[in-house]
Amino acid sequence: MSQLQELIKAAGKTSAAHGFRDEPLKATDFIALIHGEVSEVLEEFRVGHIATQTYYNSSDGKPEGIPSELADVVIRCFEMADYYGIDLEKSINEKMAFNETRPYKHNKKF
Ligand SMILES: [Mg+2]
Repeated sequence: MSQLQELIKAAGKTSAAHGFRDEPLKATDFIALIHGEVSEVLEEFRVGHIATQTYYNSSDGKPEGIPSELADVVIRCFEMADYYGIDLEKSINEKMAFNETRPYKHNKKF
């Protein structure tokens, strides 16, 4: 098992161990949670943190900042992949290979 596959399994295991799979989940639940973490990345930028800055909550030591929120986005994706049995590693490799074949900006402004 690759390191990425191990991380995906671990994300699902942690989620289940903390009770977040006690009830059936819907795709919309996962998507909303991914959106929530993306918004947290934005909020970290909005309050002026720099992209590489991790800081720690003084009360519980929780890592915070843009790197941590970006990690949360990925972790939420891992949880969804684990829940549905999605081979995310295969899909990432497939999409990255396809993206390399696309033309310059492929009719997009940015
Ligand atoms: Mg977060």
